[in-house]
Amino acid sequence: MKKPYKCTVCRRRFRLGSHDVELWNGEWKAGLLVAVLCPKCQTPEQDVEAQVNNMFTHYLGIVNGRAYGITMIPAP
Ligand SMILES: [Zn+2]
Repeated sequence: MKKPYKCTVCRRRFRLGSHDVELWNGEWKAGLLVAVLCPKCQTPEQDVEAQVNNMFTHYLGIVNGRAYGITMIPAP
């Protein structure tokens, strides 16, 4: 079984199906998930950053703990 994600700050457990699941924020470094933040522990800047990432990144999936995705920057 996969280890459940927990908020890096308050240790709240991430659960698929909770009402605010789309508001959680993951911090990725080189394809690795280094931090998880629940909606309460995010700064407004992190919230905006997550929205921008969601807009331009199409996640393909996680293989061996590494996330693979394509960043799509719209042409100017
Ligand atoms: Zn938290």
